[in-house]
Amino acid sequence: MMQEVQNAIWQVQGQQKGKTITIIGGTHGNERTGVEVVLKLKSLIESGDLRITQGTLTLIHGNPRAIEINERGSEPFADLNRSYPTDLLMHEPTGEYEDARARVIAPFLQKSDVVVDLHATNKPSEPFIACVHSSYHEEVYRWFRSEKVLSDPNYVLAGESITTDEYAEAHGGIGLCYETGLASDLGRVDEVTQNVINLFIDQGLVEGQVEIPDGSREMYEMTEAIILTDEGFHFTEGLGEGSWEEFKEGEILGYHGESPFMALYNGVIVFPKLPEHRKVGKALAYLAKKI
Ligand SMILES: [Zn+2]
Repeated sequence: MMQEVQNAIWQVQGQQKGKTITIIGGTHGNERTGVEVVLKLKSLIESGDLRITQGTLTLIHGNPRAIEINERGSEPFADLNRSYPTDLLMHEPTGEYEDARARVIAPFLQKSDVVVDLHATNKPSEPFIACVHSSYHEEVYRWFRSEKVLSDPNYVLAGESITTDEYAEAHGGIGLCYETGLASDLGRVDEVTQNVINLFIDQGLVEGQVEIPDGSREMYEMTEAIILTDEGFHFTEGLGEGSWEEFKEGEILGYHGESPFMALYNGVIVFPKLPEHRKVGKALAYLAKKI
């Protein structure tokens, strides 16, 4: 029986011992594929069409308030995926909704062997995986369609370990984010649901057999953030429209005011922000390079 053990956190246990897996959708409320995948898995389990025989499955709607208003966070610039410092539960609560929500979710992440946080991008992107590069992670992400794996060993994204997957990693689990594509695109819900079910089968939670999909992946590492200054920033024509745009060493990627910003290596642009998500002093996009 699936039970709602906390607000928008549902759990089911198999008869036999096994792995603890957590699937999250809607850490960012406007990224609808993950929200729908969680609902779909929940209804498959409730109807008996999907049976968890081993281990523990936790399904989470990350940010219910943001999901309700179909926004990234509960208020502008609030970000649940920047709310998980490793010692979160040792800090005093900040009084903010995202901090309170992270505290509710954190214990489930701590107990998980595997955490998959389903995201989507606000500008066009092919699907990709964000996680640590290792064979253990590959055993998890190989079930999801993705040609690229992006890691951030130097915490370029936020300066410290602070995302859902990083929190899971910091507490001994395997954490990854799957970027399913463009946030408004709901065309991949069934496919991603099946990917997750295949993961359950492979990890022993659900009975059955699945063939391991083949395919090699390109590995990338985040290198730096482009920080918005008071002068403003505009990309060179044709850049900044979506993730994975390639650039070459020496190329002018854009301008801080009038000052050119030149690439010092060959790489790609990732997570370029929408104008309304830009904030002075914060990243407006990130750079990564192939490794
Ligand atoms: Zn997201």
